[in-house]
Amino acid sequence: MAKSRFEYVKQFERENYLLPDTHLVIRVDGKGFHKFSQHYTFDKPNDEKALRVMNQAAREIVEHYSDVLMAYGDSDEYSFLLRRGCEMYERREMKLITTFASAMTAYYGYYWNLAFPEKPLEVARMPMFDARVVVYPNFQIVRDYFSWRQVDCHINNLYNTTFWTLVLRGGLSPKDAENRLAGTVSADKNELLFKEFGINYNNEPEMFKKGTIFVREFQDYKPVEETGLSSRQKQRLDKARKKATIGEYHVDIINDNSFWESRPWLAD
Ligand code: ATP
Ligand code: ATP
Ligand code: MG
Ligand code: MG
Ligand code: MG
Ligand code: MG
Ligand code: MG
Repeated sequence: MAKSRFEYVKQFERENYLLPDTHLVIRVDGKGFHKFSQHYTFDKPNDEKALRVMNQAAREIVEHYSDVLMAYGDSDEYSFLLRRGCEMYERREMKLITTFASAMTAYYGYYWNLAFPEKPLEVARMPMFDARVVVYPNFQIVRDYFSWRQVDCHINNLYNTTFWTLVLRGGLSPKDAENRLAGTVSADKNELLFKEFGINYNNEPEMFKKGTIFVREFQDYKPVEETGLSSRQKQRLDKARKKATIGEYHVDIINDNSFWESRPWLAD
C-alpha cells in the first residue's frame, strides 16, 4: 500500500524487544477480584468452582501457546513460563502481555458461563485481567520465582482459612477475626485451627494449599541446540511441543527437586 502523509505518526511508537535467550514469565492477575468474589458470592475462603474456572482458562492458554512450558496459579493469578528460545511476536513485550491478558479474560468468561449458568456475568462486573512479563537470566531465579508464588499461596491460604473459620464457625466479626490474627505466625494459626476447631490444616485440599501446576510433558526428551536450525526444523520442534500432553498437579515445587530434575526441558 502506498504511504500516506499520515504515516509519520508510526515513528512515535516504541517497542521493547525482550532480551533473547532468557526465560520469560508472564503473570496475569484478576482486576479487583476481592470485590468480584463478593459480588458473585464466592464460597470463602476458597470457591472451588471459581478456582477451576481459572484453571480451565489457564490450561487453554498452555494448550494454545506451545511456547508455554509450565503454568502455576492460585487465587486470581496465573504465571506462565515461556521457553528460552520463544520467538512469539518477536518477543515484543506489549504484544505478549496484552495477548495473554486478553486470552485469560476471554477464556475466563467462557468457562465462567459454563460453570455458573445461574450467575450470568453482569456488564458492570466483568472479569478482567492485567499482565506483566519478567525476564529471568537463569533458571535458578525462575525456580525461586515459582517458589515465591507458592509460598504466597500457602501464606494467604493459611491466613484465609483461619480468618474464615473464626468468622463462619467462631462467630467473630471480620474486624475481631482480623485483630485475633494480628501478629500471629504460621504455627499459631495451625494451633488455633486445631485446638479450637479440630481442623488439621494439613488435611485441607492440596489445590488450596499448593495451587495448581500445568506442565508440558515430553516423552523421550532430547535437548536440541536451536541456533542455526532451518525454519522447517524449528517447525518440527514446535509440532512436538504442540503434541506434548499437559499434566496437572497440586504438589510442592519449592523443596521437591525431583519435579524440576525430571523435566529438564523446563530449564532448556
Ligand atoms: P487487584 O486488582 O489489585 O489485583 P484484587 O482485589 O484482585 O485487586 P488480589 O491481591 O489479586 O486483589 O486478591 C484476589 C482476591 O480475590 C483474594 O484476596 C480473594 O479475596 C479473592 N479470590 C480470588 N479467587 C478466589 C476464590 N476462588 N475463592 C474465594 N476468593 C477468591
Ligand atoms: P494481527 O494478529 O497481526 O493483528 P489480523 O489478521 O488481525 O492479524 P489486521 O491487520 O489486524 O490483521 O487486520 C484485521 C483483518 O480482520 C482485516 O484485514 C479484515 O480482513 C478482518 N476484519 C476485521 N474486522 C472486520 C469486519 N468488521 N468485517 C470484515 N472483515 C473484518
Ligand atoms: Mg494484584
Ligand atoms: Mg487481583
Ligand atoms: Mg491476585
Ligand atoms: Mg489484528
Ligand atoms: Mg487491525
